[in-house]
Amino acid sequence: MPKTDFGPPDYRQMIPPIVRENYGRWKYHTIPRPGVLRHVSETGAVLTSVRAASPRLVSTAWVRLVCDMADRYCGGHVRFTTRHNLEFLVSDEQKVQPLLDELAERGFLVGGVGAAISNVVHTQGWIHCKSAVTDASGLVKSMMDELYPYFTGELPVPAKLRIAVACCVNMCGACHCSDIAVVGIHRTVPRVNHEMVSKSCELPSTVASCPTGAIRPNPKLKSVEINEEKCMYCANCAAVCPAIDAMDPDNDGLSIWVGGKLSNARVPPKFSRLAIPYLPNHPPRWPETIAAVKHLVETWRARAKPGERMGEWIERIGWERFFQVTGIPFTDKHIDDFTHATTTFRATTQFRF
Ligand code: SF4
Ligand code: SF4
Repeated sequence: MPKTDFGPPDYRQMIPPIVRENYGRWKYHTIPRPGVLRHVSETGAVLTSVRAASPRLVSTAWVRLVCDMADRYCGGHVRFTTRHNLEFLVSDEQKVQPLLDELAERGFLVGGVGAAISNVVHTQGWIHCKSAVTDASGLVKSMMDELYPYFTGELPVPAKLRIAVACCVNMCGACHCSDIAVVGIHRTVPRVNHEMVSKSCELPSTVASCPTGAIRPNPKLKSVEINEEKCMYCANCAAVCPAIDAMDPDNDGLSIWVGGKLSNARVPPKFSRLAIPYLPNHPPRWPETIAAVKHLVETWRARAKPGERMGEWIERIGWERFFQVTGIPFTDKHIDDFTHATTTFRATTQFRF
């Protein structure tokens, strides 16, 4: 593999020797207890993955602690999953229980494997991003405080459930394909500070940043102007030009989307679809949003068949029935009026109520 001076190093340099030696030869895996996967190879080798939740925004001290545990139990091999779970890859079976004991002693939650809620993935939020509607990490912390029994297996669920939070519609997280997704939404047109635009923004890149072509130059003011009719409140422009302000605490809020998935198992991958168009953005604990997510989890849990993910359950009972059983009002906001939406409309009389 040629060496480059950018990007991550080739993953093959870092995978544990047992994975390299048994590459493509893994025969099966079992889940002996929540949060633990036991992989068995054709060669007889056994690798145990122990999955623990991470708080996602972590300190250097926390990373050092994890690395220290990885050194002691896994020959230094640990990884983060795409949903920010920690996975310790243990090749010595004698070390599995001591690792689980230490994780429990240090307050790490072990779980998220198989039919369970995985760690909730989220985007950067107020901690870093300029277009963030909400504090994604605080919202996820509040959510996991409520949902962790579904992660640890204390409360069983019918299938895996992936939850994601994105703090604006740009959705850096996996919201478009998660069983439940919370997406921050701006609902008003960004405000332009003309005096500042001429001093701090590049006009061509600001104009080009708008996906709907709503921004055009205003040569008189050496600034830009926004066509309100065309704006979809995505806040892309605010991320590119600091003189454009998208924040509106009175109107910004959260939406909830359901039924997405990435996997090809049973049915093809699905996009998440809108369930709740607006909930208020109420830090520090977001009670309305947490209650809505828990209600969705509980409704799915009570009605889905074993192995049936949120989207599969909804498609089996029909979207009309989904709105009935969850008690979520169906409004005009649920009707897709995007230019190319007709390709997704049901154009037959085969409606299922
Ligand atoms: Fe969050 Fe949007 Fe910024 Fe991504 S672009 S981190 S989703 S605010
Ligand atoms: Fe364009 Fe989005 Fe800015 Fe509106 S918020 S002007 S759609 S970039």
